[in-house]
Amino acid sequence: MWPLAIGINRMSKDLKPIHLDYSGAGYPPSALVKKATRSALSHADCYPYEGYDKLHEKIAEYCKTESKNVFATNGGDEAIELIVTLFGRRMLIPTPTYNEYEYIGKSRNSEIRYKNCLSNDISYSLNYTKADLKWATLVWICNPNNPTGSIIPKKDILWVLDNTDAIVAVDEAYYEFTGNSVIDLIKRYKNLIVLRTFSKGFGLAGLRLGYMVSNQSRISYLKVAAQEFNVNRIARAAGIAALSSLGYYKRRIAAMKRLRDEFERFASGLGIYVFKSNGGFAFLKFKSIAELEWIYAKLKNKGIFVFKASDSEFTGLKGPYMRIAIGNRDDLHALKRELKSLMQRLSNTKPK
Ligand code: PMP
Repeated sequence: MWPLAIGINRMSKDLKPIHLDYSGAGYPPSALVKKATRSALSHADCYPYEGYDKLHEKIAEYCKTESKNVFATNGGDEAIELIVTLFGRRMLIPTPTYNEYEYIGKSRNSEIRYKNCLSNDISYSLNYTKADLKWATLVWICNPNNPTGSIIPKKDILWVLDNTDAIVAVDEAYYEFTGNSVIDLIKRYKNLIVLRTFSKGFGLAGLRLGYMVSNQSRISYLKVAAQEFNVNRIARAAGIAALSSLGYYKRRIAAMKRLRDEFERFASGLGIYVFKSNGGFAFLKFKSIAELEWIYAKLKNKGIFVFKASDSEFTGLKGPYMRIAIGNRDDLHALKRELKSLMQRLSNTKPK
């Protein structure tokens, strides 16, 4: 028997909501980023007319490439928008995955083939055939994948690149958590575009800064389609400063990964199926939709927000899945306490 899911919403007006749905990093910007953004703000009346050369140079240095191969965007989402708008006539989307490829594709009348990559409901690997790759004009790969947190092995990406003339867009939004990248392949494969963001590892989601890396002519073509001042001066200053504070961010990301791994062990100890995530979030599978919905509603009642499979954040995610952004230690602690008590209540009410 299920404990009753209905009840009065006990979320008090004074209770500060805990957002573990959208993946905020849960840590403040580095001192250098704070200083640089304050100074950029004092020039808020001016367009960012100095251009983006310095930002592109800094990103290129970070990516071990050249600035002619880099284009900064208004968040990774603008990169997705530009790629889909220019190349997305026929798209392959590896499900379940981040929803923005589909969302933009639909608004641009793309033809979409969804390829389920989750086998036995637990293991995620690319599932493209040679015929799919021949059909497509744009192929998406999200590495590590959001929301499963799975790493796509480089050999699988190489297989795709070797079997298509379509644009292959590799979304490395969570690169800072893995260190795995295919940027080194852009010289060899002219159809490869890698996109990244400052929203995740660098915790600058509120400033909207991302970038693309590809061969020079592809980058020039993408640039023409973007607005002249697509990145504002505060985001530009923040990006340059963040890449000059790598020591600070490395420490923060390492701490966040430790929190994630600890949380995964904890949830697994409660009898929940836990994917091994390589992103800034954990990904759980409950025993049934009823169990998921009950826990989700109870957490929400307590002011703790997480994502569940049916949320519009994901494409093609069906089943009793929950994604939890790692956030900070206190928020995660509050979630752990609630989750433990809810799982205990569940086991006490289940027929023996
Ligand atoms: N790719 C993936 C896989 C993401 O999860 C996100 C953000 N949720 C993005 C791209 C876009 O990031 P942003 O627009 O915040 O830079």
